[in-house]
Amino acid sequence: MKTVDLIVPCYNEEEVIETFYRETDGVVSQIDGYRFYYILIDDGSKDKTFIKLKELSRVHPEVKYISFSRNFGKEAAIYAGLRHSTSDYVIVMDADLQHPPAMIPSMLAGIEEGYDCVAAMRVDRKGESKIRSFFSTQFYKLSNWMSDVKMAKGAVDFRVMTRQMVNSVLELSEVQRFSKGLFMWVGYNTKWIPYENVERTLGTTKWSFWGLFKYAIDGITSFSVTPLRMVSALGFFICMVAFIYIIVTLIKTLIFGIDVPGYATLLCAVLFLGGLIEFSLGILGEYISRIYIETKHRPIYIVRQTNIASGSDTNISSQKEEQEA
Ligand code: UDP
Ligand code: MG
Repeated sequence: MKTVDLIVPCYNEEEVIETFYRETDGVVSQIDGYRFYYILIDDGSKDKTFIKLKELSRVHPEVKYISFSRNFGKEAAIYAGLRHSTSDYVIVMDADLQHPPAMIPSMLAGIEEGYDCVAAMRVDRKGESKIRSFFSTQFYKLSNWMSDVKMAKGAVDFRVMTRQMVNSVLELSEVQRFSKGLFMWVGYNTKWIPYENVERTLGTTKWSFWGLFKYAIDGITSFSVTPLRMVSALGFFICMVAFIYIIVTLIKTLIFGIDVPGYATLLCAVLFLGGLIEFSLGILGEYISRIYIETKHRPIYIVRQTNIASGSDTNISSQKEEQEA
């Protein structure tokens, strides 16, 4: 019998987690030939999520939990889940039931067909604010234009992967993780299954506008150095223009004498170039700050409590294992 780990990041999901388990279990208990385990990650929730996870695991032995020492973010939670997983197949999905468990059978069927990964793709953005949809679309356009790692528009973090693909993803040990891109970067054959957006009925979204903006910048800078090239290209272009302008001014001055007015031109040029230099420094800064964070080699997450005995976790030293009967 093949084993499947369901990896579910949970941050302040006390309202949904039980419903999530009930609905998902209703689906997976009907699937023959697989044994399902849950790896629920409490990403430093401030509500009763962790208590609920412990309760679930007490009643259902196939439920494992990992609780972080603070909020490390969804990407870290997914990574922790993958690290602790030992099954043949891995499913990553959200806790809020926006990723319909009913899709799991057809996703597993895709794996049996021979795909390395089967991922859900949202075909519409119903129930999402217009402004978020707009920025999201722009992000995919910009990111795919700048980067060789093409990200599928509508791709969500709901996918089944084979052990081989999971191991490849785990080899990418960067601290600043952008899973959507990492899953594309490792390659392999992915089958996309379209689905209609499901509105969140319980709990609230954990994303703020600013949070999404930072996420988008992470996405671009993690997979592309095009912004840096654009800075050099722009610098080169401005040099060329300035050079032509210098020649023209020189000739004019030699022929017509010194032309005193020109205050406006001077001011415009100084302001424009000043702005451009600031902007370029900002782009450089984005990359430098990423290098800075990566070179510290800090752990991606810290486990406070888990009921998973061992596994390949690298943060073992900082984790307290629960030995509950
Ligand atoms: N999540 C998390 N850590 C965070 C933010 C979110 O583990 O810091 C989890 C959250 O509990 C949910 C999933 O990531 O299971 C997706 O979050 P959310 O529904 O808020 O995002 P959206 O569906 O709006 O993109
Ligand atoms: Mg959601």
